[in-house]
Amino acid sequence: MSEPTQNRPETEHPIRSTCPYCGVGCGVLLSPDGAGELQVKGDPDHPANFGRLCSKGLALGETVDLEDRLLAPRIHGTEASWDSALSLVAEKFKTAIAEHGPDSVAFYVSGQLLTEDYYVANKLMKGFIGSANIDTNSRLCMASTVAGHKRAFGTDTVPGTYEDLEKADLVVLVGSNLAWCHPVLYQRLARARKDRGTRVVVVDPRRTASCDIADLHLALNPGTDVALFNGLLAHLADQGALDQAYIAAHTDGFEEALAAARADDPGATGLDPQDIAAFYVLFTGTEKTVTIFSQGVNQSSAGADKVNAILNCHLATGRIGRPGLGPLSVTGQPNAMGGRETGGLANMLAAHLDLENPAHRDRVKAFWNAPDLAERPGLKAVDLFKAARAGRIKALWIACTNPVVSLPETGEVAEALKTCDFVVVSDMYAETDTARLADVLLPATGWGEKDGTVTNSDRTISRQRAALPAPGKARHDWAIYAEVGRRMGWGDAFDFKTHADVFREHAALSRHAGALGRDFDISALEELSDAEYAALPPRRWPLTDAREGGRFFADGGFYTPSGRANLLPVTYRPPLSKRAPRYPFRLNTGRLRDQWHTMTRTAKSARLSRHLAEPFLQIHPEDAADLGLAPADLALVESPSGTAILRVLISSDVPRGTPFAPMHWTGETAPAARIGAVIAAHVDPVSGQPESKASVVAIRKFDAAWYGFAVSLTRPVPEAEYWARVRSDTGWRVELAGQDTPRDWAQFAARLFGRTDGAQIFSDPATGRMRFGFTCDGRLEAALFIAPEPVAVARDYIARQIGQPSPDALAARAGAAAPDPGPTLCACMNVGRNTILGAIETHGTDLDTICTKTTAGTNCGSCRSEVADLITAFSRREAAE
Ligand code: SF4
Repeated sequence: MSEPTQNRPETEHPIRSTCPYCGVGCGVLLSPDGAGELQVKGDPDHPANFGRLCSKGLALGETVDLEDRLLAPRIHGTEASWDSALSLVAEKFKTAIAEHGPDSVAFYVSGQLLTEDYYVANKLMKGFIGSANIDTNSRLCMASTVAGHKRAFGTDTVPGTYEDLEKADLVVLVGSNLAWCHPVLYQRLARARKDRGTRVVVVDPRRTASCDIADLHLALNPGTDVALFNGLLAHLADQGALDQAYIAAHTDGFEEALAAARADDPGATGLDPQDIAAFYVLFTGTEKTVTIFSQGVNQSSAGADKVNAILNCHLATGRIGRPGLGPLSVTGQPNAMGGRETGGLANMLAAHLDLENPAHRDRVKAFWNAPDLAERPGLKAVDLFKAARAGRIKALWIACTNPVVSLPETGEVAEALKTCDFVVVSDMYAETDTARLADVLLPATGWGEKDGTVTNSDRTISRQRAALPAPGKARHDWAIYAEVGRRMGWGDAFDFKTHADVFREHAALSRHAGALGRDFDISALEELSDAEYAALPPRRWPLTDAREGGRFFADGGFYTPSGRANLLPVTYRPPLSKRAPRYPFRLNTGRLRDQWHTMTRTAKSARLSRHLAEPFLQIHPEDAADLGLAPADLALVESPSGTAILRVLISSDVPRGTPFAPMHWTGETAPAARIGAVIAAHVDPVSGQPESKASVVAIRKFDAAWYGFAVSLTRPVPEAEYWARVRSDTGWRVELAGQDTPRDWAQFAARLFGRTDGAQIFSDPATGRMRFGFTCDGRLEAALFIAPEPVAVARDYIARQIGQPSPDALAARAGAAAPDPGPTLCACMNVGRNTILGAIETHGTDLDTICTKTTAGTNCGSCRSEVADLITAFSRREAAE
């Protein structure tokens, strides 16, 4: 067995690396203290962020502890050696392939993997196993954009750059809450708006934080974006605002696309015709227009058509590939783009080459000296797990992702893993919903420990560098795949010694892609020395001897056989989930500002958990009234595929009939609130991307007999139909509720905290309210509040009493000497809601003044809309009094 290659942390401080969260790809400066702590700052020299970071990036140092880490391989729950675990993996995959063929095995990987990891996994599956059954969680994120780009441009090219945001006169955000999901790009846009008066239009059914800087918010009916942009194309034609020279010289399909657009009705959007007209006039009259689109476009059964409807408008006006204009897809994940570049999707090859193109296949087969290169697309994510559920996948390897939470119809995904003969999970964490169903667990290194490259949304390749040692027996993902490749008999092909070896091969393959006329060519990097690779600064592709970075398509040069772009005739199609009397609501889902995916990392930060500490259902006031839901009630959300229990948050930011719920909670954090359980597994027929924002649901009050709130120094283990557990600065806090009332509350509290000593019980039989406190040496270590209605206590104040000798620790209110800042509103600067309210009372209602006085919103700025909401509510109250 080859010696595993482990990184050594860089010794020169600070270490330049890249944030592991969203597709902005911000540069970070890491300063480890040598004892496991990590200080994180924005890299002023990185072209994505120029030193800025959002709340998540700033809190990275709070997420690198080893709690819950998987530190050694396990076979069926028992710790094992790497040798035995990898032998078993290789043997099981070889046996399945021998008995059932190469399509009986599959890899499901992740946009969190580095390019080097992706490259080796893809080479192993497509080149040597001989199947294309490798797909990635990026399928859930931007597969519709890939499909739209390929249909229009002939390849998956992002034409523009982030600088275009700062050069544009109009920025249209379509299905993108940039303020929360790509906060540093939002900061760049907000700055440009201030400096040069950039106009901003937000197209989103929900009023999001991004609307804070919008001149116009188009709250269209869910899924009607195609109708809106078809109407725009027709309007542009009617106004003579098309670029006929560009259309004639560089495009095909214009007449058909325009005819389809004219046949569509923008009235399907449900928007006020005056608002539609205002948008069309603005777009028509503004040459320098950037259209940013994201998950609201992609996560749809018409996602690829939405992308092409947007691209049609840019192509027909020639607004592409020049400074300050063009379409710009922003990816959810840090390396979704790297995955696309290495062929991490089941319908792609590598280096943006096409799996279904014989010339491309021959070139890759020769380059890899591959025996059995896959010849047809493999199973996309949803179909892959359906095949596993049906018993057709015999061995499945999941890396760095948690599909039992993140895919639609999560109950079926869990059943798929139980059905599959052999499931391998390589991950940082042992206690995920997916890891619990694995036969073999392989410990992988994670951010801060890994070394390699990622590509952000504007094609900039950046290094991630290790600042911490690999913990326990953890190994890098690329090294794990390479070792399995060697054990399956392909020693030469997987004889990589370092991540730099892998990168050089990836870059060398791209030279062949360039020679075949493809866009992805980074051949200028194929001969980097180890030292040059180690020092590689951020660089935007293409990177060839003749060219570096820049924009695409200003002068045509598309990657279709004709070299011309395709305008696609697209027509609005409603979401596939059909409203019915039994399911009258359409559920929108998405991200929160301070959490990431399934929270395995961000939930480690108490600071990030203080913003929105519980899963919730944001619902319009009239819908809530119809359903008899009051603030802080619990709602039971039910779809044909499952249920979720969520805290009610009443808000007119969501339209009637279209509530919103966040996507993050899991079996570890709130098992009854996994939103994937209620999402239907409908997919876009072109891209295979699930329609995650438009499932139909029923909603009713969850009639809890009791509600609870608990804080504890140690991790509580709740037993209740509903619970949600997060970190606090002093330990943990939990929300609880149940329909069955425990017979013995003292025993319930003892089980919750795993202790019986030091208990104090206060109960009021008249009201049914109880308080339990557990002290040690006179200091409070745990407390539980029970009530027949949602518990009304100052939660942050109570959480801060843990470890305190406070005599009134259970009084559930802040003392005068310790004012309660309230729930955190600004996670970057750690400013509570009550602090901001106090500042409004003292300093008035000017947003900039309040932000300056409290420091809220002075870093990433994505909480400014919430500060503004508090000011508005205060002003309304004042006016009413
Ligand atoms: Fe990380 Fe925030 Fe930058 Fe995204 S915007 S890369 S989450 S620091």
